Amino acid sequence: MNYRHAFHAGNFADVVKHALFCRLVRYLQRKDGAIRIYDTHAGPGLYDLFGEAATRTLEHEEGIAALAAADPSVRTHPLLADYWAIVEPDMAQGRYPGSPLIARRLLRPQDRLSAYELHLEDGAALKGLFAGDPAVKAIALDGWLALGAHVPPKEKRGLVLIDPPFEKLSEVDDIASALKKALARWRGGTYAVWYPIKRPAMVERLEDALVAVAPNEIVFAEFLREPHTSDERLVGTGLAVINPPFVFTEEAETLLAMLLPVLQRGSKATFAIKDARGAGSSRAAPAN
Ligand code: SAM
Repeated sequence: MNYRHAFHAGNFADVVKHALFCRLVRYLQRKDGAIRIYDTHAGPGLYDLFGEAATRTLEHEEGIAALAAADPSVRTHPLLADYWAIVEPDMAQGRYPGSPLIARRLLRPQDRLSAYELHLEDGAALKGLFAGDPAVKAIALDGWLALGAHVPPKEKRGLVLIDPPFEKLSEVDDIASALKKALARWRGGTYAVWYPIKRPAMVERLEDALVAVAPNEIVFAEFLREPHTSDERLVGTGLAVINPPFVFTEEAETLLAMLLPVLQRGSKATFAIKDARGAGSSRAAPAN
């Protein structure tokens, strides 16, 4: 396990992923009943943007720092306001919160979070972050195992964020088989799978695997900050949502259109929201 999210925290992919994640949670919280959030690949939960890893890559400069510098009307838009309110206090101190901390800050008193992290150091940091917090279980356990064994939650409603490092090709199979098991145990859960957009062939392979698992209940939100390149560069970010809220497509479209001019590299950024058949809407960045 070589991947450390500290090198990438707060980059454009985190901004898109976390902003969409906040919308999914808020939708589930429209009802008073408790929800459970599972974060199968949680990371340490809080990142130092002035630390060695972040200063080596400076990825946050084209991510959360670009959002911080954007017109305030973007950050205060109703679809982004929750996300911005959660990250702003940390940003002011040169830090960025990861998905488990964002999830924690979204919880109402009746909701719970289960977060899993297998990396020794990051897992210890995650446990330390939530030590003594009765609303959170931070567990040093394989997220794939947890997904197959810990759902359904007693709360019955909730969301699973699946955000693996994509270090190995086999992770596409890990995602598909863990999801199959989880869906067999918890048909009604909402599952959000993050994926990197580098080579089109890899994206197609992942999309095909996910469609095979949930052909009728899946939506893909893809954001390309630049067109595909011939190298292995991360050009875009994707979130596949199984059992999405009925408002998700519309909200994702508005959100991504708003983020396009903020996070684009050059003038050829695009986004697409599509279903299993590839049907949906897509948009290019407005000319500068
Ligand atoms: N979800 C985090 C966020 O948005 O802030 C970022 C997570 S990062 C992309 C992926 C994390 O998964 C890494 O911290 C890595 O150590 C961890 N990881 C890798 N394999 C794992 C496994 N099988 N189970 C749990 N965690 C794992």
